[in-house]
Amino acid sequence: MKRAAIGIDIGGTNVKLGLVDERGRVLLRDTFRTEHARSRTEMLDKLASHIAVLAAEARTRGLRLSGVGIGAPGPIDVERGYVYFFPNIPGWKDTPLKKILEKRLRLPVFVDNDANAMALGESLFGAGRPSAGSGRAARNIIFLTLGTGVGGGLVIGGKLFHGSTFSAAEIGHMVVDPAGPLCACGNRGCIEAFVGNGYFVREVRSRLQKEKSILRRWVKEGKELTPKLVQEAAKQGDAFSKAQWKRTGERLGTFLAGLANLLNPERIVLGGGIALGGELVLAPVRAALKKKAFPIASRFVKVVPAVLGNDAGLVGAAALALSKRS
Ligand SMILES: [Zn+2]
Repeated sequence: MKRAAIGIDIGGTNVKLGLVDERGRVLLRDTFRTEHARSRTEMLDKLASHIAVLAAEARTRGLRLSGVGIGAPGPIDVERGYVYFFPNIPGWKDTPLKKILEKRLRLPVFVDNDANAMALGESLFGAGRPSAGSGRAARNIIFLTLGTGVGGGLVIGGKLFHGSTFSAAEIGHMVVDPAGPLCACGNRGCIEAFVGNGYFVREVRSRLQKEKSILRRWVKEGKELTPKLVQEAAKQGDAFSKAQWKRTGERLGTFLAGLANLLNPERIVLGGGIALGGELVLAPVRAALKKKAFPIASRFVKVVPAVLGNDAGLVGAAALALSKRS
């Protein structure tokens, strides 16, 4: 009997659900807006009823459900599936989410931080899979999602690394310059404050005042300045935009060189807005990494873009259940 799991990605805007097969393919999708569940009780009711529909569909298709995996935006006690709080969704302080849902659903439930779930998803079903050349799945992966914030996940020896109190892999909040820009966490000069979307856009805006670029015209025409727009400009040969990606890539590569020395991974997987720069940003990342890390670490590691895209949260959440033996 083929296995499948239900993946749930709880975000500040949407809750995405999906039935995911053992190869990481999304068979069915479902979604509702987070704000439509006005309280924790309403959210739990909605989750339970949407899960029941997907579970019934799995039975109809002759699939054996390994359980429900939930990727959640906040600190989680992973062993107990206990939510300490959600930074962007009120009312979730101290919620034994696993216990509540398992009782209602009679299915195993696994809860983890969303970036950890994404890291596991990429490891099993995305950028960590055996590549055409090597034929072997990567066992040691550093995952970074470069969005508004910089989220991270570590897969070590094929398993998520959680640390002593489940708070490991906050890679975005490693300080690279104590005199650097203020970070959302309150410290100065975290890597997030250098390569997160906000900093990237602010830096472009301030340099743009003094330099020539097609972006000036586009912004005047009312286009929103985003990493995607800077990528578009670079693609059209805009020297200013190309230099911006190079600078960001060099910064990130220098930072990753330290992580490569620390963990000696096989893959470093980059997702999110800044990773949209593709080779524009990946090439300088690789060059800086090669220059700054010990050769024994840098020769071995491959820096690759995330491949699961918008499904990363959903597939990653399902991976939490699929990776358990059952
Ligand atoms: Zn920080």
